[in-house]
Amino acid sequence: MDMNSIVDDMKVFAKYYDKVRIVDPVKKQVMSTVDNNATGLEVISETQLCYDFWAEGSICLNCISMRAALENGTFVKFQATEDKVYMITAMPIHLSERIVVLELLKDVTSRNILGNVWHGLTEHTDFEEIRTSIAKLNAIAITDELTKVYNRRYISERLPLEIIRSSKQPCSLIMADIDHFKRVNDQYGHIIGDEVLKYFALELTKNIREQKEDWVARYGGEEFLICLNDCDAKAAKTIAERMRTAIEHLALPTAGGTIKITASFGVHTFSRETVVMTDLLASVDKNLYEAKNTGRNRVIAD
Ligand code: GH3
Ligand code: MG
Ligand code: MG
Repeated sequence: MDMNSIVDDMKVFAKYYDKVRIVDPVKKQVMSTVDNNATGLEVISETQLCYDFWAEGSICLNCISMRAALENGTFVKFQATEDKVYMITAMPIHLSERIVVLELLKDVTSRNILGNVWHGLTEHTDFEEIRTSIAKLNAIAITDELTKVYNRRYISERLPLEIIRSSKQPCSLIMADIDHFKRVNDQYGHIIGDEVLKYFALELTKNIREQKEDWVARYGGEEFLICLNDCDAKAAKTIAERMRTAIEHLALPTAGGTIKITASFGVHTFSRETVVMTDLLASVDKNLYEAKNTGRNRVIAD
């Protein structure tokens, strides 16, 4: 598909939607937009960010455009501004050399429309209550149910953006894995094992820097990925070491008694926009593997 035929499609969609736009889901840039009330296509500057529309000051947690591009399918979500609720449909479009996303935004603030999909919505439902419920729904999609850190899906949807940002400032990844966790399950059972996982995730979260937009996600099982933005190799190693020590000193007050654990950490730092996600994960995993093979309860960096 070429850009001209996309623009023709956008004009058709604009008859039925309140806002139609093409976004680059990785760079979070709006490439062009058509408003319902506009007469023609307004091509806007490359510097406008798609998430500015929501006025939250940060990237949407539940980015369905990234999901549409990655999974090559159409996704729908609700999102609210200060005073309006929108239903957003994100569809992938294959341009010759890359995938962009067509976003269709429909204002569904009217109780008549929203009431059809919102169980329990009444005339008296406060707008703030609606906003909070929508935010919760969007959070569920990218949160690990057990540990409440981000889920695996969030990693694949968020990491591409961090890769782009890494050309301006280095980014570090830490892969953390509980040592001999199978023994915990074997000795105390899976329910207590789950409790240990929750404490572990919480401790990792306590050791990241909120002001840098660091994040923790469950990669799988008892393995967690930590992303440290604007963080060079030396600082990342210090943070990983701080996490390792904190975990080593914890006495976890579980229903099965006090449990002590240790964990191993692999650290990898990158600062090139051209790296690919699978290579990054392979590098961080390689260091984790070395930490396991050289005795566990240790940090191995590049
Ligand atoms: P190592 O030090 O080499 O990492 O050994 P390990 O025993 O931690 O690693 P292994 O990969 O052999 O076992 C991981 C265990 O984690 C096995 C699996 O049952 C357990 N596990 C994975 N997900 C969950 C979960 O959600 N809850 C509980 N309780 N256990 C889990
Ligand atoms: Mg383990
Ligand atoms: Mg493991």
